[in-house]
Amino acid sequence: MSETLTAPPRLEALYDRVARVVPRMEWEMFADDIAAILDLKRRHRAVILAHNYQTPEIFHCVADIRGDSLALARDAQGLDADVIVMAGVHFMAETAKMMNPDKTVLIPSLQAGCSLADSITAADVRALKRAHPGVPVVTYVNSTADVKAESDICCTSANARHIVESLGVPRVIMIPDEFLAQNVQRDTGVEIITWAGHCEVHERFTPQEIRDWRRDNPGVAVLAHPECPPGVVAEADFSGSTAAMSDFVARGAHDRVLLVTECSMSDNLAAAHPAIDFVRPCNLCPHMKRITLPAIRHALESLTHEVTIPDHLLAGGRRAVERMLAA
Ligand code: SF4
Repeated sequence: MSETLTAPPRLEALYDRVARVVPRMEWEMFADDIAAILDLKRRHRAVILAHNYQTPEIFHCVADIRGDSLALARDAQGLDADVIVMAGVHFMAETAKMMNPDKTVLIPSLQAGCSLADSITAADVRALKRAHPGVPVVTYVNSTADVKAESDICCTSANARHIVESLGVPRVIMIPDEFLAQNVQRDTGVEIITWAGHCEVHERFTPQEIRDWRRDNPGVAVLAHPECPPGVVAEADFSGSTAAMSDFVARGAHDRVLLVTECSMSDNLAAAHPAIDFVRPCNLCPHMKRITLPAIRHALESLTHEVTIPDHLLAGGRRAVERMLAA
């Protein structure tokens, strides 16, 4: 059962969840907002969905559902709540709204965007479809509702390979992440027409950086997100979504791990796995970091900013997401 509908855990018990990565002095600054958010969640019958890139005090202390984009899309279906707060970015809140059209979905900051979602418009997708008639459009969930509505099926970094292979065709249009598409093309052999969208966090990693970290951290296991350039993924021991990285770490086969992804992911895993040494290259996502405890508190106090999607886009976008979940 969600913590929302039960008595909230004591603040000190919550601190235990993050003590390894949040200094006591910082915690003193968080405690008032955390207590207020837990109370507001109960009053509004609200749940908080948190992406793996949220900071530990949000991820471990106020969130009800945590995970990668796939988990958040899947678990957002049919929630027993009146209000959903997305501790993530705007396209994630739109997906939650698609899966819960009758609920109030809030995003704590309207500035929580995404360089991938911003890289392509619905008109761009229509132009691609005209240029490649009959070729199915596979759209990464990191996209706006109107782009999803133009698509045949969605994918996440966790299931992109499976989704492309499930179509059983020699050629697909895969948008908007060029690097994810290139990584999937390499793994599947399916020809992929893509789009030059990039994640501003993952595009900054370079193969030379990986080699340097290996040299400086002997024995480290390198895990790279598939939004990284193919040359970076080629240097890694493992490539997968943030959920796949979490599973890899949880198996406990390596006592030193380097996650080639957004900074907070390492912090959240370090809080949960004290025996593992995390080497932490740090590329922050400025959009994810727009979501703070005060912003979540304000969202719940004022019930803003509500995410709405016009009916015709909601139906088309939801169809593409549901096809992904059923594939
Ligand atoms: S980490 Fe990259 S893909 Fe994720 S929200 Fe930030 S810019 Fe978008």
